[in-house]
Amino acid sequence: MMKTKNEMEKVLTEMCGSNLETCSYESIYTALLKIAEKESERKTAPVKGRKLYYISAEFLIGKLLSNNLINLGLYDSVKDCLEDHGKSMAELEEVEPEPSLGNGGLGRLAACFLDSLATLNLPGDGIGLRYHCGLFHQNFKNQLQSETPDFWMGDHDWAQMTEKTYPVSLAGKEYQARLYQIAVTGYEGRTNHLNLFDLDTIDPSVIGEGISFDKTDIEKNLTLFLYPDDSDDAGRLLRIYQQYLMVSAGAQLILEECEERGSNLHDLADYAAIQINDTHPSMVIPELIRLLCEKGIEFEEAAEIVTKVCAYTNHTILAEALEKWPRSYLEQVVPQLMPVIEKLDEIARARTSDESTAIIDRNQMIHMAHMDIHFTHSTNGVAALHTEILKNSELHNFYQMYPEKFNNKTNGITFRRWLLKCNPELTELIENLIGSGFKKDAAELEKLMEFADDETVLKKLAAIKHDNKKAFADWLKHTQNITVNPDSIFTIQSKRLHEYKRQQLNLLYLIHQYFEIKAGNTPEVPVTAIFGAKAAPAYTIAKDIIHAILTLSKVIENDPEVSRWLQVVFIENYNVTAAEKMIPACDLSEQISLASKEASGTGNMKFMLNGALTLGTMDGANVEIADAVGEGNIYIFGQSSAQVIRRYQHGDYCAREWYETDANIRRAIQFLTSEEMLSCGQEENLRRLQNELIGKDWFQTLPDFNAYVVRKEQAIADYAHHPMDWTRRTLINISQAGFFSSDRTIAEYNEDIWHLGK
Ligand SMILES: *Cc1c(COP(=O)(O)O)cnc(C)c1O
Repeated sequence: MMKTKNEMEKVLTEMCGSNLETCSYESIYTALLKIAEKESERKTAPVKGRKLYYISAEFLIGKLLSNNLINLGLYDSVKDCLEDHGKSMAELEEVEPEPSLGNGGLGRLAACFLDSLATLNLPGDGIGLRYHCGLFHQNFKNQLQSETPDFWMGDHDWAQMTEKTYPVSLAGKEYQARLYQIAVTGYEGRTNHLNLFDLDTIDPSVIGEGISFDKTDIEKNLTLFLYPDDSDDAGRLLRIYQQYLMVSAGAQLILEECEERGSNLHDLADYAAIQINDTHPSMVIPELIRLLCEKGIEFEEAAEIVTKVCAYTNHTILAEALEKWPRSYLEQVVPQLMPVIEKLDEIARARTSDESTAIIDRNQMIHMAHMDIHFTHSTNGVAALHTEILKNSELHNFYQMYPEKFNNKTNGITFRRWLLKCNPELTELIENLIGSGFKKDAAELEKLMEFADDETVLKKLAAIKHDNKKAFADWLKHTQNITVNPDSIFTIQSKRLHEYKRQQLNLLYLIHQYFEIKAGNTPEVPVTAIFGAKAAPAYTIAKDIIHAILTLSKVIENDPEVSRWLQVVFIENYNVTAAEKMIPACDLSEQISLASKEASGTGNMKFMLNGALTLGTMDGANVEIADAVGEGNIYIFGQSSAQVIRRYQHGDYCAREWYETDANIRRAIQFLTSEEMLSCGQEENLRRLQNELIGKDWFQTLPDFNAYVVRKEQAIADYAHHPMDWTRRTLINISQAGFFSSDRTIAEYNEDIWHLGK
């Protein structure tokens, strides 16, 4: 193993075939990819006892080179060696395209979990699909989002093709699912694998304008895109095709591995644990039962085995996200599963007279989450508040049937990517203060509390934040040609665009600020409001919100009176690479979802760990962050989840009343269609958003508006007038972030649900 710089230099020079000075970054990258693969291979280890299979439609893994070099202990020698020859890691990283295998938090969570499993030396592989064009690449033109295919697969890829294929029957026709594997290296741990399935026959030439394509040509289109447009029947059917390809090939792989390791299948639960990440992989339940029956096991026993093997994670209480499919769709695409699902529905119905928990309802809709809860042994929520809401309202009837199945697993993030990789300066400071134990035992960050009143340390911490803000500013200049002022306060809201996340609340605040500045009430310090968010291509209002923010950005930019104090920036194509640049540079982290709607959030944890203070509602894991840091070290505002849930139950929220009675709200909403906005933006989009806010506002933006303005102004004033105290509070946040390590989350899953290696 090439630990030292000189050893690394020798190997690299040999592989690249020339002096490193004259080598292209591509050839260095290819050589390092091979070195990392070989090193990872050495760290694979035989599996004893239970092995985990984490099935997920998404794995938002981010670029792998630096991450893998860090985990393999090679990063420093590579970096030093390259620097000796006039090359930089930053430029090297640009060679690698970011894999486009995920969408948002759920996919990023799956990636963090794979990292923690390998780091904790637990046997656990991922199972998913190899999307050729991922979600989409987001482009801004005329302040509007448009989508193009994200062709991320290059010539040198971390996903290795294997010889293995599995037959999968779709609408009566047999396809061969080919297995690709990406090595998952743990930090000083073992190597696991991310198994991705694909067809050899995929053909990107079926893609037409933007990301449109012929949705019926399964052989050519099946794994082109993640979450293809489901606004028509063909699109919805395609999702079922995709899901079944993933679970059928996955189930065959699992049974094959377990049989190879000695399982007689009756004892499958001693060999395998399957975690179903949200409802997309739910068909793995009937598919496994079907396969076990084919192998001679009686139906009732097969259903019991699968229940013992499988566990389900719920990620949302938004009704539209709890998948249900018309029976006719499944009859068309997966007729072989229908007899199994019908029997499962019968068994479930025999357990209760409560029609609301049926798998197949009266309208012949099939409820995936219901099947998951009946036929797995564990249902977990992803933050304490979320799990309580599941138990007490959303899934209350199930909770009454199976109280023992319900449990909470508060999400986490891997500190290797979200601290070591993205914030090396902060990592070094922490290491100098408390040693390196925190890299594997995040709870050790608590030791930083000792330095909360140490001015020398606080000054270093503030200097690191400033450096990171400058580095972000350089990156922004380089990638989007936007100039920002690192001496302003950076407020950042980066996450998928959704009305429940309430980017529109931030937008209304910024309009309010615009008026205040115009009236001479300037903020205590210049403000840079930064957004990053993709909107689903068919989600009209979400796209209108993006348009309004981009248009406001332009209006302000053209107004020197305001632009001295306020700048609005929208990062194009927000992804993991962008997040790694933005998060270390953030001062104020915007986590402003409508209370009760954000299941957990993980962005909130990344910002906290990197020394931002949170401005947030009592929602998701914000509640646990507030608990950990104490109320003086976080800015909380807004309605409680109980108030929100009550408002929904009574159905008595009326946005128009707020609009009519509150002058500030009215002024901000009216501005959306002002002359200033219309001179830069599209009337149709701006008016539609305005009407939505006045006439509906389903996610109750207006009742939280004034509280939000007050808390945000407080935060900005604190930042401006008490910088040392601000930094002291960021140190407290960092020191309390240990609980939000995905190592802790995975240890809990293993202790309560999986029992791996036993
Ligand atoms: C962490 C992360 C998310 C999830 O952010 P939330 O604020 O929890 O919704 C989404 N996208 C990317 C690229 C991320 O890194």
